[in-house]
Amino acid sequence: MTPTLYMAIPCYNEELVLDETSKRLSSKYDALLASGKISPQSRICFINDGSKDKTWEKISELHAAQPNLFSGINLSRNRGHQNALLAGLMTIKDFADCVISMDADLQDDIDTIDAMLEKFSEGYEVIYGVRDNRDTDTSFKRETAGLYYKLMRNLGAENIPNSADFRLMSKRALDGLAEFREVNLFLRGMVPLVGYKSTVVYYKRGERFAGESKYPFKKMLSFAIDGITSMSATPMRIIFWTGLFSFLVALILGIYVIVRHTLNQTSMGWSSIVIAVVGIGGVQLLALGVIGEYIGKIFLEVKQRPRYLIQDFLNK
Ligand code: UDP
Ligand code: MG
Repeated sequence: MTPTLYMAIPCYNEELVLDETSKRLSSKYDALLASGKISPQSRICFINDGSKDKTWEKISELHAAQPNLFSGINLSRNRGHQNALLAGLMTIKDFADCVISMDADLQDDIDTIDAMLEKFSEGYEVIYGVRDNRDTDTSFKRETAGLYYKLMRNLGAENIPNSADFRLMSKRALDGLAEFREVNLFLRGMVPLVGYKSTVVYYKRGERFAGESKYPFKKMLSFAIDGITSMSATPMRIIFWTGLFSFLVALILGIYVIVRHTLNQTSMGWSSIVIAVVGIGGVQLLALGVIGEYIGKIFLEVKQRPRYLIQDFLNK
């Protein structure tokens, strides 16, 4: 059976890259169609994440010119990369046998699609694109990313190092993902929880083809923190043990002071007290911060707001 392949490509202010991306993907689809690897119902779906530029106009033009190749989803407003991707996956899964998600900027190597389809035909349901090196990153991003994946793993959150959101998922795996109702999305942590037979394919990640990154340092940092606090409760447990430890230290200190007092050696400096007060105050504030982060998440989950709203869906 030839599978129907949909591509899900979130786009935020990507008017500069859409021409090239659509051209490259369209010739890829021609080749895949010609060699009988995908069915004629396959589509390339761009998801407009509330762009401020002409991204949606471009997507609509692409669909109007080639409705049998390009689909488009227009979100009601900007919801961020993860939500936009989820909106795409959940909307198109009912039309497809498998969906490959990819960034709009051609950083993910299009030729990896063949390898992914190959693995899909062998019966794998989740196929992660894994970067075989990080040469195109700054050494800062490379080092911090490496440490981050290790930290995540130690905190008990499963992840596939050096994989981002370039992956193939079967219809069944997407139906599984649909059962995850959380609003704090960290897809690369959630997909491994879906299970099913999975594997990886390696690819070389290139430079952004045009325009600039939509993930400045601040967004990247908050995404990283979200990743940990959405996938693991270990930080809260660490706080408990830190609190217990400092309480025990304070207890021992108290006994020590009383002993000194009974021996009439109470000329203890105030500095030790100040250090203790500041130290414990710091730990408490830190603890409150981490707890606050989780409560904030619970607050958002409890409200059960929609993760995205779809304004237009062009699919023929
Ligand atoms: N993106 C999005 N909504 C946002 C920010 C980014 O849909 O609010 C999309 C963006 O258009 C791109 C993908 O997410 O297709 C990854 O963004 P980018 O390439 O800027 O991130 P980087 O590769 O620099 O980490
Ligand atoms: Mg990019």
